[in-house]
Amino acid sequence: MSEEEIHLGLDDIDSPSGGCTTHFASLLVEYLSKHSVNWNDYPNLIRLNPGIPFRTRGNGAVSLRFTTDTIEPDEILHQIELMINDYVDRLYPNTNPGVVIVTGKIPEAISRFSKKALWRTIPIALAKRIIDEHNLVHYSSGNGRGLIGGLASIGNQLLRDHTYEYIAYRSMDQCGDTRGVDALSVKQMDEKMGDSVFSNVDDKKYRILIEPHGPDPVLYGIRGETAKSVIRAASYIKSEQKVERWTVFRTNQGTGEHLVHTMSIGDLRPYMAAIVHGFVETPPRMMEGGYVIFKITDRKSVIDCAAYEPTRSFRETVMKLRRNDEIRLHVNVRPRSKTHGLTLNVEGLEVLKLSPLIQSLNPLCPHCLRRMKSAGRGKGYKCDKCGFRGATMNKIETHKERPIEIGLYLPPLSAQRHLTRPFARNEHRNSGRPKHLIEKWHSL
Ligand code: ATP
Repeated sequence: MSEEEIHLGLDDIDSPSGGCTTHFASLLVEYLSKHSVNWNDYPNLIRLNPGIPFRTRGNGAVSLRFTTDTIEPDEILHQIELMINDYVDRLYPNTNPGVVIVTGKIPEAISRFSKKALWRTIPIALAKRIIDEHNLVHYSSGNGRGLIGGLASIGNQLLRDHTYEYIAYRSMDQCGDTRGVDALSVKQMDEKMGDSVFSNVDDKKYRILIEPHGPDPVLYGIRGETAKSVIRAASYIKSEQKVERWTVFRTNQGTGEHLVHTMSIGDLRPYMAAIVHGFVETPPRMMEGGYVIFKITDRKSVIDCAAYEPTRSFRETVMKLRRNDEIRLHVNVRPRSKTHGLTLNVEGLEVLKLSPLIQSLNPLCPHCLRRMKSAGRGKGYKCDKCGFRGATMNKIETHKERPIEIGLYLPPLSAQRHLTRPFARNEHRNSGRPKHLIEKWHSL
């Protein structure tokens, strides 16, 4: 038996009509805990490139890290295969489960792969090649796409900033009913827990954000800075549906880890998550359907940008941009289609420099201080009140204040990606894998 660390990555074990990868991971945690494995970390919930079109919801993959002298990797894999067959919805063709196991040190190629999976689109063939080259124990079905997330979650050990999420699950046979999470209990929790939790209630403290809306087994998820804080936070939450099981995940949510590459417009490719620095080329316009479009240039190329309806008040901020404003956009690249070219889906806006807004006004009459009227082309200005004529007078240019300031603007919390670093985490960074896990971090 191996005392080396086992890293087990899984993804795409879900369907829109029920199931989700984190829920399956929770079942697996129970199974492995019953086999007395030694947990080296909380399950890692790794969010990958949020723009990937194949995702069901939040593009999350999970990695479990443990040592064991009671059960071999092959045996674990065999058990998982049985569990997956039991679990996934065979009628849903878009489920392509993938499970990968790395024993011992994680190869550099896998760490590089993980970094890429945060912002690029990775072909399944690349995941398969790495798996073959390193002779990794693995399982996949369908087209094997889940191997991408499985492998990527293994390579991201959350060595730098990370956060936690307590996920409570309901029973699978109650997934069609309403969850009934009590909003008041969530608001009270949020107040009591202060900045040890984040993004659980919207900016105006009006809407709760912990309850999903689809027919999946997640009852609610609470995001926070430590395992202890999310567990304590959960003790405040009341819901109509019963919590059947719960697990604490360590995650890259709220870290902004996907947005580290600044790209020139010419190098952008579909589905990339990137930062683009440029200047507003054409001012924003609100389109029918409630989305805002404008163009930016990096002085070499020009590209369309869009802020869509779900980003709500963020669109109003974008509407305040003017030609030549210097900005940095946090984007996901939308591929070209019959109706539009390559488009930047704007998910964050950094205003770096505002172009001056110059207002040009007729001069004031030097006698009665009234604004004068034009006396005709090339004839200067005249005062209607006292009759004064200023044949050589010109228009006066004044700088008008812009209704937007230098700084970072994000969509409201309810419209942010899991990976987006919310304002509440601006000053906050956690680091490193935990040395010890708290005693009880999952139900059983
Ligand atoms: P859930 O939240 O319920 O787990 P999900 O939103 O995570 O669902 P999945 O059903 O897991 O979505 O589908 C995402 C698929 O995209 C997975 O097969 C995953 O391996 C793949 N994938 C993730 N990141 C990338 C990437 N950067 N390039 C290509 N494929 C990716």
